[in-house]
Amino acid sequence: MNLSTVNKKFILLHHFFGIVSWRLKYNIEFKGLNEGRHDFEFGIDDKFFAHFEESLVDNGEVTIKVTLEKRSAFLKLHLKIKGWLELTCDRCLDNYQQKVKGETGFFVKFGEKEFEEGENVIWVLPQEHHINLTQIIYEYVTLSIPLRHVHPKNKNGARDCNKEMLQKLKNYMHVESEEEETTDPRWDALKKLGNNNNNNNNNN
Ligand SMILES: [Zn+2]
Repeated sequence: MNLSTVNKKFILLHHFFGIVSWRLKYNIEFKGLNEGRHDFEFGIDDKFFAHFEESLVDNGEVTIKVTLEKRSAFLKLHLKIKGWLELTCDRCLDNYQQKVKGETGFFVKFGEKEFEEGENVIWVLPQEHHINLTQIIYEYVTLSIPLRHVHPKNKNGARDCNKEMLQKLKNYMHVESEEEETTDPRWDALKKLGNNNNNNNNNN
C-alpha cells in the first residue's frame, strides 16, 4: 500500500464520519437510563435543513423538547416543538418567519421485525442502545408548516406584506384581466385547443 492510497482511505473515512456525525447530535442513549422520566432538548437551524436536499425549508430555528419515559418493555417519547421557519409569502412573495409549534408522541418497541401497530410505533432491534431522532424531527417539523404561507397579522390586525410588491402584482393582474376582455373570443377558442394539445403531449 503506498502513501496515496493511505491518504485516500483516510479522506474517505473522514468524509464518511463527517456525514454521520451531525446526526449523532440527535441521539438518545436509553440503555443506561433508569426506568422513569427523562428530559432532553435539541435545536435545529439552517445547518440542519442543509442536510436534506428535498427540504422545502432552508432556514429556521426550532427547539425540540423531548420527554422519554422508560419502561421495561418499551419507551414512550413525547416531542414538543417551538420556533420559526423561513417561508415565502404566497401573497407578496417576500420571505417571512412562520411560527411553528406542536406536540406529538409515540412508542418505541423492541423486536426483530416490525408489527402493524399503528403509525405511532417505532420498532428497534432488541440489542439497540440508542434511538436517533434526526428523521423524526425533520418530518415532524416540516409537517407543522401550515398549508397557507402568508405574513402573520401584526398587532394592528394587518399583515406585514411588502406593500410595493402587492401594488405591482395588483397592477399586473389588472392589466392581465383587461387584455383578456379585449381579445377576440375566436382566438380564445383556438388558444384552448392549443393548450389541450400541449396537455396531451405532456401526458404521453
Ligand atoms: Zn406577504
